[in-house]
Amino acid sequence: MNTKYIFLTGGVVSSVGKGVTAAAIGRLLKERGFEVSIQKLDPYINVDPGTMSPYQHGEVYVLDDGAETDLDLGHYERFVDISLNKVCNVTTGQVYAEVISNERRGDYLGGTIQVIPHITNEIKRRIRMVAKTTGAEIVLVEVGGTVGDIEGLPFLEALRQMRGDLGKKNTFYIHVTWMPRIGATGELKTKPTQHSVRELRSIGITPDMIIARSDYPVDGELRDKIALFCDVDRRAVVTMVTAELLYEIPLLLEETRIAGYLLERLKLKPRQKPAWDFWEQLVDTMREEKPRVKIALVGKYVELHDAYMSVREATRHAALSLGVDDEILWIHSSDLEKGRGVELLREADGIIVPGGFGERGIEGKIQAARYARENKIPYLGLCLGMQVMVIEFARHVLNTDEVNSTEFDPATLHPVIDLMPDQRDLADMGGTMRLGLYPCQIQPGSQAAEAYQCDSINERHRHRFEFKNAYRSVLREAGMQFSGLSPDDRLVEIAEMDDHPFMLGTQFHPEFLSRPTRPHPLFVGFVKAVKESVQR
Ligand code: GLN
Repeated sequence: MNTKYIFLTGGVVSSVGKGVTAAAIGRLLKERGFEVSIQKLDPYINVDPGTMSPYQHGEVYVLDDGAETDLDLGHYERFVDISLNKVCNVTTGQVYAEVISNERRGDYLGGTIQVIPHITNEIKRRIRMVAKTTGAEIVLVEVGGTVGDIEGLPFLEALRQMRGDLGKKNTFYIHVTWMPRIGATGELKTKPTQHSVRELRSIGITPDMIIARSDYPVDGELRDKIALFCDVDRRAVVTMVTAELLYEIPLLLEETRIAGYLLERLKLKPRQKPAWDFWEQLVDTMREEKPRVKIALVGKYVELHDAYMSVREATRHAALSLGVDDEILWIHSSDLEKGRGVELLREADGIIVPGGFGERGIEGKIQAARYARENKIPYLGLCLGMQVMVIEFARHVLNTDEVNSTEFDPATLHPVIDLMPDQRDLADMGGTMRLGLYPCQIQPGSQAAEAYQCDSINERHRHRFEFKNAYRSVLREAGMQFSGLSPDDRLVEIAEMDDHPFMLGTQFHPEFLSRPTRPHPLFVGFVKAVKESVQR
């Protein structure tokens, strides 16, 4: 079968849920028996988001192969339940870096290198790589930003060319727009959608489908109007009101019957009937009144919840599977240092300290770990959260505050967390951490073993620092167990406390492998302990 391509562009404004829409459409197609993959094209010039501040970009999502990617890839993996690879996130930076290095090697034999065809060809090559590397039959390609952005033009030109290369039955263009509501009359406006479609047309792309998003219900007349003014089949105009629940979106899209339309236009026949029972049940459970547990998330980017997208979702997956509602108490770690937010911490039934970099707010996180240890509050530490838990316990055991990670105090007396040896002489910051999937052996009899129910696991990593083995025996004797180790025993991957309902930290990021259909065992273990502590 030829690979089929569905391209998603955005119009009017960004942040209207294009990524989630792409992910949900991916699910609709998977439910009909197709192998689906999803790619994100990001027009910014960074090679990847790995070096960007979470304030700019939200979370950096890590794949099995160690690619540091846009958080939309997290939506894709969670909704479709697939594992993506590094070709699934392309940036302008990557495309130019490749073309320029080809040019330096002399590959272009004296030619003048131009946006068309050299840059566009490289973009198309990367789009085609998705099917080659994942075996997908249908590839969804989402372009970041909105039509009209200067930096998006080469990507849109590449998409335009792909219809010429592959024909109408192998390509399909979806334009996702936004309908604002004018306060005075309460009317929803289609004009921005019309303008945006016109802009897309001027680039040579005629959308085959319009998904018009809004915060308010839409009547049929507006759909007719969009269809007429934008010259799109009425069946292919979909209006999507902002959903109350994220995981309801595939169900809402199913009701619009777009999957049938898409397949018809791509000349495909569904291979099976979709089975939505699981998703319906998930949404029903989300709607039910459930006992509530409060989980403090102590981080330094808490103003921007997107910076902790996967942690938030993984916690929710676990809570749903255990029939509880998880309310997140967002606590700024710097606030704790100033004595603020302490009441919130006291209110919490469980504490998560997620990943992070740099010194700011570290002492606040250490305070949160101490509070969890002393008061036997369930604690889950993710990467930095594990390092903080170790620093805190070592300060207690060694009875000195001169314990730290060399990331925060290079001259500390007790560097319990230290730079990994292979990280020492690196000059480049981008893409040089210990990244991606690595195996880990679980020690029998531990809380980790109890949660995982197996002795060998693979998890995704993103770090430069590690536990210093010189401190293993002193901390072990004092009550910290190293329950997950690299197969050569050299690297501590999981640390946990004896005599505590649940206090466990991982050097890896379990949140990236949690799916609504398969909540992550460690998150389940943590939320279970939280639930039990509330019931007690
Ligand atoms: N800054 C720490 C390190 O590099 C933790 C990284 C993280 O939390 N992802 O090891």
